[in-house]
Amino acid sequence: MKHTRFVASLILAALIAATGARAEIVAEIASRVPRQAHSYAEMMAALQELHLTDRVTCRSLGTTHQGRHVAMAVVCDPDHDPRQLRKLLIIARQHGNEPAGTESSLALLRHLAVSEGKAERSLLRRVALLAIPMANPDGAARSMRRNGAGRDLNRDWVALSQPETRAIEAAFLDWRPDVVIDLHELPAHSHKASYQENFVETIAACPSLPTLLGERCGRTSAMLSVWMKRYGLPLNCYYDTPGDDTRLCHRHFGLVHQVPSYLFESKTGRGRSLRDRAAYHILGMLVIANQLAYHHDDPLRPILRPMDVAAAPPAPEPEQDAQAESGPARTTVALGEPVPDAQDENRTLLTARVEGTDDFAYLTFELDGRVLVMTNRGPYEYSLDTEGCADGSVEIAARAYNSSGRCIASDLRTVTLVQPGAALGE
Ligand SMILES: [Zn+2]
Repeated sequence: MKHTRFVASLILAALIAATGARAEIVAEIASRVPRQAHSYAEMMAALQELHLTDRVTCRSLGTTHQGRHVAMAVVCDPDHDPRQLRKLLIIARQHGNEPAGTESSLALLRHLAVSEGKAERSLLRRVALLAIPMANPDGAARSMRRNGAGRDLNRDWVALSQPETRAIEAAFLDWRPDVVIDLHELPAHSHKASYQENFVETIAACPSLPTLLGERCGRTSAMLSVWMKRYGLPLNCYYDTPGDDTRLCHRHFGLVHQVPSYLFESKTGRGRSLRDRAAYHILGMLVIANQLAYHHDDPLRPILRPMDVAAAPPAPEPEQDAQAESGPARTTVALGEPVPDAQDENRTLLTARVEGTDDFAYLTFELDGRVLVMTNRGPYEYSLDTEGCADGSVEIAARAYNSSGRCIASDLRTVTLVQPGAALGE
């Protein structure tokens, strides 16, 4: 038994060394997440403590209807002016009854405030993190979704009618962050197909948006899929395009201000503790912070490389032949026949079967060349809203990617989508 455990730990150590990842870092940061969520007063006390360290400064962005502060912490290397660095804005808990965002951002701040790790110190010389751990303190005080005036803050980004959204918008305009993250949690039970598992929503590559914006969001969401898979966390990535509802925070910053922005939804429910839900946010924030630190200005290129979630990326490997890389065992993808979605008559269910090799990381479903979703877990399906689709034949595709972002298998077919919902093959 002891021997087996020893061998297992050797194998694990070798695997970690091979991937270059510090497998313990997310668990290490998540271990700072308490069993019971911070109250507003406890969160403010935690920020005051952090303010005493030389890497963190805290400020109030404004006050709520009930007089609480919307507080923001800035963490970076003390020898650097945060305004001169790249900046990542993290907005947590617009919905007062979703505590994981407060806990994940506080845990990350506490870790970065004191860590002497080489990777962390290097990150903080490149990126300043601007974190708002409790965007809706009035809602948090009552564990309610809405703010003190009964308004849903995440539907207020067009009107900007509430003190909380106005304060955060002013901070955005003052600091001009390069990337925005918005942290949320999903209900345990929901009829919505997309609400069944953790997801990220970001900006699609789209002709009417700057190319670089779509490229950055696409590359970063691919990296998120790879890293979540590596940590055993299921993830779907969905994409927003112009015309989507910009009353939502991440769409406001992504589609209106046109900075890469990422909505994180962490699934709640049985077996998903506050710490587990926060760990998903923590890994997401680390991947995005590192993309911003090391890959933000990469020239556009089709190949994605994995990188350490908390360290400078290793030197690029030489290009390899796709054939040689996949070796004798090959990943295969087969699209299923599109069928009407039994849950919703306006939707068509796309399915795919994947026979994955070790290097398979995620699958995309595409419609006429546009990525609809990126998913790193089976069953591989996507519920397509056919209302937005033109009549006539469309091409759907499913493509499998490896952890370097290389397409390793695909299947395409032309189908006629019949309104509403039904689909005819070939
Ligand atoms: Zn929410």
